[in-house]
Amino acid sequence: MTAYEKINIRGVDFLNVSPAEAAEVGKEMLAGDKVCTVFTPNAEIVQLCIEQNEYYDLYNSGDMVVADGAGVVKAAKILGKPLKGKVAGVELGEAMLAYCAKSGDGAFFLGAKPGVAEEAARRMTEKYPGLQVVGTNDGYFQKTGSESDAVIEKINQSGAKLLFVCLGVPVQEQWLSANRDKLTTARMCMCLGGSLDVYAGMVKRAPKIFIKLSLEWLYRLLKEPKRLGRMMKLPKFLIGTYAERFHTK
Ligand code: UDP
Repeated sequence: MTAYEKINIRGVDFLNVSPAEAAEVGKEMLAGDKVCTVFTPNAEIVQLCIEQNEYYDLYNSGDMVVADGAGVVKAAKILGKPLKGKVAGVELGEAMLAYCAKSGDGAFFLGAKPGVAEEAARRMTEKYPGLQVVGTNDGYFQKTGSESDAVIEKINQSGAKLLFVCLGVPVQEQWLSANRDKLTTARMCMCLGGSLDVYAGMVKRAPKIFIKLSLEWLYRLLKEPKRLGRMMKLPKFLIGTYAERFHTK
């Protein structure tokens, strides 16, 4: 795999790649012979690691860990080790689907409420002719034991090379890490949170102006005020980052 520099932000090692470079790494994963994992933590997740250190190993175990959020990019700048920019998981996932439509690699969508993965598959195959979504499963199953094993079996039977795991954080990363050794055909496994809801048209992404001004978090908060609790991790994360900056100066 092409080697890119890793930049440590508050204990999490991020690959310093542009969105286009991340997609190139993805293509290498798909063409390779190993099961690879892709995690896209934002500032909330890094703060989770800071508050509960046991999560560091989980997030740092990803084969490609990219910064999905303006907060992490800002922190990198504050710490004087800037990242090339944000790599939104939802966009990277879609870029890989566009690629698979040409390469012929099959995709499996795992996660979200019943019916959502199917609708996401319908919309994405319409948008990217040639794309083969070879299987789907909703995300509401027992994450250990026989139900979980049946899901793994379904993924293996589908022959999918690209796997989207959309079970919410940190469950999706925990489930994928616990089961990656049982996957036989999947090569690029991406943990993508609420992306299937976006692909299915259930949840709209923020208008471009919000994204441009790095205010996507504000849009999501206005749409889903119940996210406020978890979003309080963002100011904590930034304050802690400034503290680290001045402490180590
Ligand atoms: N979800 C799931 N199984 C569960 C819990 C959640 O499939 O047991 C799905 C949920 O329906 C949603 C996604 O996981 O589609 C989480 O979306 P969210 O935007 O909250 O993503 P996060 O920020 O947690 O990654």
